[in-house]
Amino acid sequence: MKEEFTIHGLCPDWNKKIFQPAQIIVSEGLIQSITPINSTAGNSATPLPYVLPGFIDSHVHIESSMLVPSEFARLAVVHGTVATISDPHEIANVCGLQGVEYMIQNGAQVPFKFFFGAPSCVPATPFESSGSALGPEEVALLLQDHRIRYLSEMMNYPGVLNKDPEVMAKLAAAQKSGKPIDGHAPGLFGDLAYRYANAGISTDHECFTVEEATGKLQYGMKILIREGSAAKNFEALIGLLQEYPDQIMFCSDDKHPDSLVAGHINQLCARAVQKGHEVFNVIKAACINPALHYSLDVGLLRVGDPADLILLKDLHSFDVMRTYVNGILVAEEGESKIMHY
Ligand SMILES: [Zn+2]
Repeated sequence: MKEEFTIHGLCPDWNKKIFQPAQIIVSEGLIQSITPINSTAGNSATPLPYVLPGFIDSHVHIESSMLVPSEFARLAVVHGTVATISDPHEIANVCGLQGVEYMIQNGAQVPFKFFFGAPSCVPATPFESSGSALGPEEVALLLQDHRIRYLSEMMNYPGVLNKDPEVMAKLAAAQKSGKPIDGHAPGLFGDLAYRYANAGISTDHECFTVEEATGKLQYGMKILIREGSAAKNFEALIGLLQEYPDQIMFCSDDKHPDSLVAGHINQLCARAVQKGHEVFNVIKAACINPALHYSLDVGLLRVGDPADLILLKDLHSFDVMRTYVNGILVAEEGESKIMHY
């Protein structure tokens, strides 16, 4: 049985767009109650921390960190990350379905929420010879697995536009399963972008300019602002957050270990707030929108939700004091509580 504990902190009030002092009671891994308190309650010598839902990286290949999932989690929780939407296509390129299974099983060992997708483009091009291929049958098999949450980045956008039968079969399998389809379509504008979105593809993390992203947003796609170790699109795209706060998420795509040690989604939050973005919009992009889009079992700081939450000293640096996943303290003051496996 998980222990019961109480947190006093400043919680977001989404109606008033303010932070209210509150007492949160957690037991059995769930938020049992959130009760407003007098701001002088508790120890007034110590300012109350801010309490937020945990951060979600909405598109990251764990393999790019050169770590197994359990080790990725060990580092990421220090920065307040509680979940990732992860495409295991790098390992699938080499090990096929066995590789995907390994990622799921390894990730399940630790208190962290990995949500893996079915790789849509293995191999990435017909010219690659890394060892494995996932055809429509394998992709359909994966999508039937409850642990697989979406069809991951459909890089073969010419195949979508030209209605390639294999591509169409994979898209159909995702639609049949009711799971979202991720996109990957750099440089697609106008009618081409419209047709790509209209094939049921719901996100894109490859935009380099506001013009490209705006077009895709208008066709109903969600835009993932990517800032990782390879591509860096934050400066170009963050301005979209003000107009489209419900359609923006943050992701890293590829995150090398040295940069994961330095920070994660919390760094993007700090940069966005420092540019003048409203903190409630930033929280939507970093915590709320991915959980809603992918129907994740990640708590959003509501009564009855899993206690996936973080404590912050301030909403400027976004330095994380504590991270909880399912009510388990997984990081405190820069130290990970997740063990090596
Ligand atoms: Zn990717």
